[in-house]
Amino acid sequence: MKIVIFGPPGSGKGTYASRLEKRLGVPHISTGDLVREEIRNRTPLGRTIEKYSSSGTLVPDEIITEILKKRVASELSRGFILEGYPRTVGQAEQLEKITRVDVVVNLNVPDKIIVDRLSARLQCKSCGAIYNERTMKPKVSGKCDKCGGELFRRVDDQPEVIRERLRVYREASEPVVDFYRSRNLLRDVVNDDPNADPGQIVDQILKLI
Ligand code: ADP
Repeated sequence: MKIVIFGPPGSGKGTYASRLEKRLGVPHISTGDLVREEIRNRTPLGRTIEKYSSSGTLVPDEIITEILKKRVASELSRGFILEGYPRTVGQAEQLEKITRVDVVVNLNVPDKIIVDRLSARLQCKSCGAIYNERTMKPKVSGKCDKCGGELFRRVDDQPEVIRERLRVYREASEPVVDFYRSRNLLRDVVNDDPNADPGQIVDQILKLI
C-alpha cells in the first residue's frame, strides 16, 4: 500500500504516520526527518539545505526529490507511508514519475490548534518520536519513552517561523489538494478537537484507506 499523509505543519502527520507504520507494517518515510538527518550529519547537502529548513521555507523541488528518490527506491514493492512529500504541485508530478500512489489522506486542522501544538512540541534526537509538553508528555521529562534518547525543540518551532511555514503551506502546498482531488485519490480527515486522541484519528484514517 502506498499512502501519502498530507496536511499543514503541525497537523499531526508525523505522529499518525508513525502509528500507521506499526498498524500496517509498511515503512514511514518522512522528508522532514531525512532533511534533519542530512543537516545533523553535516553532509555537503545538509549544509545547502539548512538555511531553508531553519527559516521555514521549502527546500527546492529538485534537491528534495533527489533525497526522496534515494530513500524510497528500496520500498517500491513493499509500499510506504509518505509524509512531508509532495509539498508542491511540481513534487506531486515528480512523485507520479517515481511511483503510483493509492491514497492521499488530507488532514484539515485550524491554524490556532497548529500554533498551540507546535509551540509545545518536542522530538527525540535518536528515533524521531514526537511528544507534546502539554498533551503527549514523555514519562520521564526530557527523555524518549521508546529509546531513552534526548528530547529537543526544533529550531523551526518558534512563533515567527511557524507563521512563515503556514504561509508557505497556503501558497505552495494547498494546490496539491486539488491535484489529488482531481485524480480521485484524496480522503479528508477533519481534526479540529485540540484534545482528540491520536489513536482515534488513526482509526479514522484506517477506515478511509
Ligand atoms: P513540518 O512540521 O513543517 O511539516 P517537516 O518536518 O515535514 O515540517 O519539514 C521540515 C522542513 O524540511 C521544512 O520546513 C522544509 O524546509 C524541509 N522539507 C521537508 N519536506 C520538504 C518537501 N517535500 N519540500 C521542500 N522542503 C521540505
